[in-house]
Amino acid sequence: MKRVVVKVGTAVLTQNNEIAKVRMLNLVTLIAKLRTRYKVILVTSGAVAAGYSTLKLDKRKQIGKRALAAAGQPILMTAYKNKFDIYDIPTAQILLTEDDFDSGKRVTMFQEIIDAHLDNGILPIINENDISSTPEQLFGDNDQLSANVAHATGAELLVILSDIDGYYDKNPQENKDAKIYKIINEIPQDLLFDESTPNNEFATGGIVTKLKAADFLIKKGLKMFLCNGFDLSAAESYLLQDKHTLGTIFESKK
Ligand code: ADP
Repeated sequence: MKRVVVKVGTAVLTQNNEIAKVRMLNLVTLIAKLRTRYKVILVTSGAVAAGYSTLKLDKRKQIGKRALAAAGQPILMTAYKNKFDIYDIPTAQILLTEDDFDSGKRVTMFQEIIDAHLDNGILPIINENDISSTPEQLFGDNDQLSANVAHATGAELLVILSDIDGYYDKNPQENKDAKIYKIINEIPQDLLFDESTPNNEFATGGIVTKLKAADFLIKKGLKMFLCNGFDLSAAESYLLQDKHTLGTIFESKK
């Protein structure tokens, strides 16, 4: 079975500083369907926002962000567990940092853990460990983390679920006439140095980190699909019916 990494961002998973329960359930239902065809690895954001539901700290401060992530990670995982239980899908939590990808030994270690999970029908749920790491040890966003996870675990595809339908020629939240790209074969390198433009106070990525993730995967000969995480129909038709309706495919020219 092919492996696929699904990454869901803060914009989709949280609403009014809380976990968006219905959207999470829809995601869980999609993953349950995907498991008939793929071995799925989930990379999820949302811990800091989930933590904010019990602890009102300033997330712009390093200590606030860490304390919120520590409080929120179990809330996030419990919410996932309750929903995956509906489909009898056991879950496991894996916290990684950029550092983990620097050492061959550590890469082998988490590859073996993920292989053991996938071989036994367990869904690995990954997040960046920003609780006990210094900023230098972190990617700082789950877009790049999930691209590295896809590469290290032998997945052919990374699916990024965000609050937009795909990648546009300009920010669609600010420009009504923005046009969506259906396929991108190459990322112009100057775009990778733009400032990040997240659309949510808890988000850290924006389009730049998604382009960095796509650039990394294209150069490794892998594929990325950026699509809407509120309405999962584009993801479903692409992944389960092999139909590209909406969403942007990033892949090198064949
Ligand atoms: P997530 O939490 O899903 O990672 P982000 O808020 O980090 O979401 O990133 C998605 C946001 O990136 C969009 O809502 C949009 O405001 C912004 N963005 C900026 N430029 C573009 C572009 N050219 N195409 C698509 N989105 C863009």
